[in-house]
Amino acid sequence: MYGLPLVRRFIPCSLCTNMMTQRNSMKRSVSMEFPPNFHAAQPPRPYNFTLPTCAATALNFETIACPYHPDKVVSLQHLIPDLLMADLPRHLLVDPSQFKFEARESQRIGGGGSGEVYHGTYRNEAVAVKTFHSTTQAG
Ligand SMILES: [Zn+2]
Repeated sequence: MYGLPLVRRFIPCSLCTNMMTQRNSMKRSVSMEFPPNFHAAQPPRPYNFTLPTCAATALNFETIACPYHPDKVVSLQHLIPDLLMADLPRHLLVDPSQFKFEARESQRIGGGGSGEVYHGTYRNEAVAVKTFHSTTQAG
């Protein structure tokens, strides 16, 4: 079978996790002052986002809403730093202000099934820019 992921990756909500950690430490320090069901309204474990949901949301937004606390959005950089390359050292990242290319036919060098290659410049040096066809079809 092709195209079906064998492993579903879940990403626990970082805000839920923080709230649970704080709740647990609060329980330890002042448990005698609260009735046992004081936090019953809160979920027992963090909400789990799926990787495809996070990736699709990251295309258009920097944050994602958690159903357990819709009023407080979660930073996608905290949830999927590897996917957003937020965990890479800054000097390995492309500086967008130094990077120039336009996906125009006159700049096109080649292409194939997975994407197109264009002429561009980075820090005033000629570079080849590979763009990938989107795997999700809009509409
Ligand atoms: Zn949450």
